[in-house]
Amino acid sequence: MLNPDLNVFKFGGASIKDAAAIRNVANILEDYKNRQLVVVVSAMGKTTNALEIVAHAYFKGNLELANQRLTELRNATFTTVQELFGDTPAELATALNDLFVTVEWVFDDPPSDNYDYDYDQIVSLGELISSHIITAYLSHSGIASTWLDARDCIITDNTYREGWVHWPETLQRIIRHVPPVLEDGKLVVTQGFIGSTTENFTTTLGREGSDYSAAIFSFCLDAESMSIWKDVPGVLTADPRLFENVSKLERLSYKEAIEMTYYGASVIHPKTIKPLQNKSIPLHVRSFVHPGEAGTEISADAGDVYPPMVAIEKEQALVNISTRDFSFVAEHHIRELFDHITTTRLQVNMMQNTAISFNVVVNDIDDRIERFCALVEDDFKTTVDRDLELITIRHYTPEVTESMRRGKVTLLEGRLPLTIQMAVKEVAVIARKE
Ligand code: ADP
Ligand code: ASP
Ligand code: MG
Repeated sequence: MLNPDLNVFKFGGASIKDAAAIRNVANILEDYKNRQLVVVVSAMGKTTNALEIVAHAYFKGNLELANQRLTELRNATFTTVQELFGDTPAELATALNDLFVTVEWVFDDPPSDNYDYDYDQIVSLGELISSHIITAYLSHSGIASTWLDARDCIITDNTYREGWVHWPETLQRIIRHVPPVLEDGKLVVTQGFIGSTTENFTTTLGREGSDYSAAIFSFCLDAESMSIWKDVPGVLTADPRLFENVSKLERLSYKEAIEMTYYGASVIHPKTIKPLQNKSIPLHVRSFVHPGEAGTEISADAGDVYPPMVAIEKEQALVNISTRDFSFVAEHHIRELFDHITTTRLQVNMMQNTAISFNVVVNDIDDRIERFCALVEDDFKTTVDRDLELITIRHYTPEVTESMRRGKVTLLEGRLPLTIQMAVKEVAVIARKE
């Protein structure tokens, strides 16, 4: 049974990017202050990108750059605080200073041999900063709220940068920490994106993972609904940054939402849907610019007639793998290839095989493809084509498919009754390289 009094809200980076945006969030929350509400926040604006530069510089031994970027972030943080409060509340100043000091302590030691570990210890700072500022600002605005460390609640394994949630432990912790605060009449403000191992090392759940954090809280608390507040009116038929003629979907099924987000509709993190679907918790995608409007409702019973919907995944590569001795690509080869795909954490978005070759379209992240190619090189010849886009169209029509192909060369295509996928390269990119 869902708890009819309890909701989970998630505010992303854009919705809290500066002092004016945070004031807007407080205005939205004013209307909900008498409900039981868990508020999950991302880092402000582009903070996570900035912290990625800090983490990378530290790992490469460039402490000058790491310190410079951290100082810029500290200055920006205190400027926002000043705009919000005038005089910085002492408790907030202490909390923020302590956070920056923990990163400076990291800098005192040499980097570990695990970049992903160092990354999580540094990049998690963004959500800790924003959640402290927002909690303080809500209290300052007369909205009783308590700061909760998500690392006391969301427990993961030690796959740094992509922690896998340990559900039984997480459920127990959330039940222990959250309801007492809500029953005390306060909002809970916590961080998206971050968690902790059982040994208390900070982990992150993967870029854009705050939506997923909110879904974890929703699941564990049996929330009546979850809302994510965005800079768009809801889920649209395509990304408005890339297309002009988009329209809002009033309702969407969990299945449609998971298919679209998995293939690049970045409005929702793909892992968000499963926990909500498992308990039939509706997800509302709403505009923080027009909070009175309904947005899109994602739920089980959303009908099955949809317009064509387009998702685009960038930074894709096509890896062609063929046997060196001209033997067929048989099941045992595919098993071996997938073992290596798993260990190098290649994420496969599309695949196809012919008699002696196997083709996969993967996310081109770090040096994962190089590591994979090196592992298989004794038995397989590999070629890699980079700078591709993967276009996925659900409920495709010939017109939409043709319009998506314009100006592009299709390198691999797959079709199912409801979905077409094309790995394409811009003609301009090909021309530039020739
Ligand atoms: P957050 O601030 O919560 O992190 P995001 O930037 O991750 O928000 O998500 C919102 C953005 O998602 C929108 O600004 C929009 O450009 C993009 N987007 C991509 N696909 C879609 C879609 N199908 N519908 C709506 N927005 C989309
Ligand atoms: N701040 C993190 C990121 O930018 C998580 C999130 O915003 O969802 O990836
Ligand atoms: Mg996001």
